[in-house]
Amino acid sequence: MAASPKAVIIGGGLAGLSAAIRLQAQGYETTVLEKNSHLGGRMHQVKLGTHSFDFGPNTITMPHVFQEVLGRSGLNPEDYFQFIRIPRHTKNVFSDGSSFYFSSEPGEMMEELAKLDEKSAGNYPAYLEEVKKLYHLANKHVFYRTFSSWRDYLSTPLALGMLRSRPLENLDHFHRRFFYDERIIRAFNRYATYIGSSPYRVPATFGLIGYLELHGGVYYTRGGNHQIARGFVRAAQKLGVTFRTETDVIQAKVKDGLIREVITHGEESIQGDVFILNGDLLTQVPRLLDSSDRPSLTDRKINGYEPSISAFVILAAQNCRLPLHHHHVFFGEDPKKEFSDIFQHSRYGDDPTIYLCTSSKTDPDISPQGDNIFILINAPPLNKGGKAALDKKNVEERIYMGLNQRGINLRKGLTASEIVDPSLIAERFYAYRGTLYGPASNRGRDAFLRPFSRLGNIPNLYFVGGSTHPGGGSPMVVLGGQNAADLIVRNRGR
Ligand SMILES: Cc1cc2nc3c(=O)[nH]c(=O)nc-3n(C[C@H](O)[C@H](O)[C@H](O)COP(=O)(O)OP(=O)(O)OC[C@H]3O[C@@H](n4cnc5c(N)ncnc54)[C@H](O)[C@@H]3O)c2cc1C
Repeated sequence: MAASPKAVIIGGGLAGLSAAIRLQAQGYETTVLEKNSHLGGRMHQVKLGTHSFDFGPNTITMPHVFQEVLGRSGLNPEDYFQFIRIPRHTKNVFSDGSSFYFSSEPGEMMEELAKLDEKSAGNYPAYLEEVKKLYHLANKHVFYRTFSSWRDYLSTPLALGMLRSRPLENLDHFHRRFFYDERIIRAFNRYATYIGSSPYRVPATFGLIGYLELHGGVYYTRGGNHQIARGFVRAAQKLGVTFRTETDVIQAKVKDGLIREVITHGEESIQGDVFILNGDLLTQVPRLLDSSDRPSLTDRKINGYEPSISAFVILAAQNCRLPLHHHHVFFGEDPKKEFSDIFQHSRYGDDPTIYLCTSSKTDPDISPQGDNIFILINAPPLNKGGKAALDKKNVEERIYMGLNQRGINLRKGLTASEIVDPSLIAERFYAYRGTLYGPASNRGRDAFLRPFSRLGNIPNLYFVGGSTHPGGGSPMVVLGGQNAADLIVRNRGR
């Protein structure tokens, strides 16, 4: 009997775990090498005393994507994690004190919009119809495929699909065709940040995010969203995947046009037949591969990618329960200026929009002694020299002050806190300039032409994760892991 092919995955984030499960289930002897002591990458738990926080994803959409990874490998997803739908999911609060909820129940959503503007509410069904079309185009042409070379863009259905997806209109303009109240437009425009981009520049194609949340629904995972990553690890272990944590891969050796081995920081050689890079390809390709081995991905090309936004996060453990919704957004006075500060001037907004996620509102057991408040503002990525735009104390102060002005005094009941800033994200995950989602999608070129999932000259190396196709965000990287694994299996069978 022929020996099983060996797959080596560099990075144990969601994308790597997704690929590992699929490959192992397809008969590959799979090993995951992860530099950190935890698996799951950006999706992991932080504990401050008895308070449990999600470090990364707070908003889960497309739950079927996570479930299918297990279902396709013969496992029952319910044994690994359970999703809770939150119909009335986000409270949007504006500087004039007015507010409305986002709901994935259309009737309730129209009532909420009507509180601010009847005419906008009346257009909501037409908006939903339009974003549904955008979603179906992406689902058909983009989500379930890899892009390995220019040839992959040349299919006629794909080109027609892309043209129909409003690539030349920006998201803000798209929203203004349906909604008239500035507050409503601000709330919808925030969807651009889900892919780390600006609504004034990102193609209207990404209006599909509205469909995911407002039709598909917003979910929370019982016990914390990090349970998805934990469930993936348990499933992978059950199938026989080998995990090696605290194993930093520092080199990939190419011989006769193929990678044969990777070298770890402990100078160990790990051999394989096929390799997947889950670490951010924009930082790890130049680190692991000699420039002569990557003529299509030069340092110059990598430095030309516009980074997506980063985040400044405070995890704030409270000794009490506060009047907050599970997802709660306090909008700044001038979001347009905030986006221009971040993207054009690489600086923090001085009146930033503040997002709070308090998962203890849905799941009090994970934080029994008071609320677990995750506070996030959009942050400029690190500059090319790796420097942050502002020191931590200054940003922290700006956030607490902004909340105080809205009547939320978090310092009073604070029992412990932890800060996550762009430098930490860069250092801990080797993330390109500390970004959340790799390259931004601001320019049409970057939105549709992300770095390919492979290099033309090394056929046994595949890329997964937020910097490649289909893009960043937890469901997308999980899909990317499945797509790459499927391609590997198909290519091997040829
Ligand atoms: C604060 C924050 C909030 C977010 N909010 C949301 C949200 O609400 N909803 C959502 O869907 N998404 C959200 N995201 C994005 C989401 O977390 C990511 O898109 C997703 O988790 C990325 O998974 P990944 O596998 O691509 O990368 P990672 O999670 O970065 O995994 C890559 C792994 O590779 C490892 N690695 C890298 N290089 C090497 C090497 N050379 N050797 C060994 N190991 C290596 C890294 O340590 C890392 O563990 C958020 C992210 C953050 C940080």
